[in-house]
Amino acid sequence: MWDVAIAGAGISGLTCALALQEAGYRVIVVDKSKGVGGRAATRRLEHTWVDHGAPTLSRNLEDEAQYGTYVTTLLEKSLIQPWPAAQIYRAAVHQGRWHLDKCEASGTIQDSGTIQDYAAPAGMTAIAKALTDNLDICRAQRVTKVQLDSQQSYWQIATEATAKDLPITLRARALVLAMPAPQALDLCTPLLEAGIDPSAIAALKNVRFDPCITTMAGYRSGENPFWSELCCQDDPIIQRILCDRHKRPIPEVEHGETWFVIHSTPVFAAQHFHESDLTALGQQILEHLGQVYRPWMAQPFAFQVHRWRYAIASGGYPGDPLSANMSLPLWICGDWCTGNKIQDAFEVGLDVAQRIHHQLSV
Ligand SMILES: Cc1cc2nc3c(=O)[nH]c(=O)nc-3n(C[C@H](O)[C@H](O)[C@H](O)COP(=O)(O)OP(=O)(O)OC[C@H]3O[C@@H](n4cnc5c(N)ncnc54)[C@H](O)[C@@H]3O)c2cc1C
Repeated sequence: MWDVAIAGAGISGLTCALALQEAGYRVIVVDKSKGVGGRAATRRLEHTWVDHGAPTLSRNLEDEAQYGTYVTTLLEKSLIQPWPAAQIYRAAVHQGRWHLDKCEASGTIQDSGTIQDYAAPAGMTAIAKALTDNLDICRAQRVTKVQLDSQQSYWQIATEATAKDLPITLRARALVLAMPAPQALDLCTPLLEAGIDPSAIAALKNVRFDPCITTMAGYRSGENPFWSELCCQDDPIIQRILCDRHKRPIPEVEHGETWFVIHSTPVFAAQHFHESDLTALGQQILEHLGQVYRPWMAQPFAFQVHRWRYAIASGGYPGDPLSANMSLPLWICGDWCTGNKIQDAFEVGLDVAQRIHHQLSV
């Protein structure tokens, strides 16, 4: 029997798990993916790697709270480095072509001079791995059902294996679902008969998520751009482009490949999300990029496409983690409780850990 089971090894689930483990609880984390990090995601390629989820993380430099300490620790371990605002540009559409401006000048991206962005040279999953110290993690296990046992003395968590392993069943005194609200809703709705607080279900239904189609494109020729990041205004297809080469240590990029990560707009992603031919979808995005920006960008030597069904929480934030208000602790959380950034995920994970500590220690 575990003290706490946590479904979801993203930043919120791992932060919660580590805090509870440090407080002396026996904690198990379960994730449907083979790796950790959730949307803080990095994909390995033949010669390098790219961040296909969150490209950077931000910190308010005046923030002395625990998130500030976490970021400082990542800096001390060289897991992150500043991502200079001076290299972030804005692309505005004019007569069907992009025109680049410095974001700083427009003030649209950094609304406060004290916000600093950071990139992770080893990939964004490294910032999640930094939270996994000695944690017990079951990977490639999708939680399919959660229920109280008949005596209401523990939570029973059933999974299906997403790789070769056998499914597992876990028992725990407290349960955390640390995942996007719609995925938590699927697991919580069957608990209505068992008495889950209907207001928690209503709050989960209220949270909105935008999808994103992300294209990772590699080039062996073409220019190495002066910008690290382009934020696209008014473009119907592309919202943001990152030049991942600017994040990596020099020896890692000497093979001469430059990879760009191209995130679509939510509207384009919603319109095309269910298209089965991902290659055609990627080509459509790249051809558009070639037309509006640089013709060579339509012809990478290789590209891959990833679909994020729940990329960015876009509204209906409840403001706090959700409690099931049942006989044993069940908390439902993720960045979407308070916003849509890594900082939100981190802070809500800590918040849930404190609430569970309070419940289990009385
Ligand atoms: C394209 C994109 C761009 C972004 N840009 C930024 C940015 O610039 N700055 C920033 O701060 N943030 C950004 N984000 C958001 C950031 O990634 C999230 O805020 C943060 O990673 C959320 O962490 P989380 O733990 O709440 O959720 P997640 O990272 O989604 O973790 C949830 C975990 O639950 C697992 N899971 C789901 N269902 C189950 C199940 N049934 N059983 C087991 N496991 C399950 C998933 O596999 C996942 O690992 C971006 C995200 C995307 C996708």
